[in-house]
Amino acid sequence: MRKWTPILLLTLYLLGVGVTVGLKNRDWIVAQGMSLWSQMPPPPKFERVIAETVSPSPSPSPNVKLVVAEEPRPQATQPQPEMVANVNNVPVPGTCALQPDPNPTASGKVGPAVNPVTLYRFRRPTDVQTANLQGGVGYTPNEYQALANPTNYGQRFLYDINGQPVNNAPIVVLHETVSDVYSAVNFFQTAQNSEDNQASYHTLIMLTGDIVYIVPPDLRAFGAGDSVFVSSTGTETVKTHPKRPPSVNNFAYHVSLETPADGRNNADSHSGYTAAQYQSLAWLVAKTGVPDARITTHAVVDRSGERRDPRSFDSQLFLQYLQSYPRTQEIMISCQSAYLN
Ligand SMILES: [Zn+2]
Repeated sequence: MRKWTPILLLTLYLLGVGVTVGLKNRDWIVAQGMSLWSQMPPPPKFERVIAETVSPSPSPSPNVKLVVAEEPRPQATQPQPEMVANVNNVPVPGTCALQPDPNPTASGKVGPAVNPVTLYRFRRPTDVQTANLQGGVGYTPNEYQALANPTNYGQRFLYDINGQPVNNAPIVVLHETVSDVYSAVNFFQTAQNSEDNQASYHTLIMLTGDIVYIVPPDLRAFGAGDSVFVSSTGTETVKTHPKRPPSVNNFAYHVSLETPADGRNNADSHSGYTAAQYQSLAWLVAKTGVPDARITTHAVVDRSGERRDPRSFDSQLFLQYLQSYPRTQEIMISCQSAYLN
């Protein structure tokens, strides 16, 4: 701990600098702190740990810790979704909340704590042999979990701030980290006590193609603040805060690609993503069952006028990969997917 204290303090200071220069661009806020941080000695390498051996207590050092997402042993009976009380103390099935708090505090309401969990909390594997027969030539990326601090995510809501029921079908929103993935994970695992700085994705895809689960899909990641999804039937967005613009977060699954080294800046483009990233992205998105028409980018849903990510994304190449994977619903983007363990 003593060894890391100066680096931790410097990191927090630099993050403060990033926030002041880029308040409206959350990806860039993260990147500002991270790119400066990356000029310092490299962070420790990821620790590959078996899920069962990890203590749920927070790590005392700023080390980013990845935990291998393991499949649980088969159970004789299906676990029942837990009942979670919402702001009005009315039990709601799964991990959804009934309605947003009409008078939220400046720091907002933190999400439900998620301890290191098995792979089932992030996806429910279907029959692997069948999936391989249907396409994807047996490609299987490494899967890790590096859970976000609960200040950086919340519950999905059944009603908006005005009491109107919300029942949008899920969408997938693609992003890029701008920073390296280690720095991004470090940011998400740090408590953000002001709502202005709270941010997260559900899942990150490293340059290597490795997948890192950050927020379970049944919860609401803070990926796109001021945003609207335009479909063939109209515009979709959900207001969950009395003073902030509505967003797509309530029905979005946010996936972010690690930016290549030459893109860790605010330039218009970079050299693009690796083949492993496209393959892992297709592998992952196919498991959400979300149709092509509801797969979008932060740049497209953004209404702040300042988000452009993912830059240099080859959508044709992605769709080509996506076609080779069977669509399943292993990743359920709703409170019905609360396979708590
Ligand atoms: Zn973004």
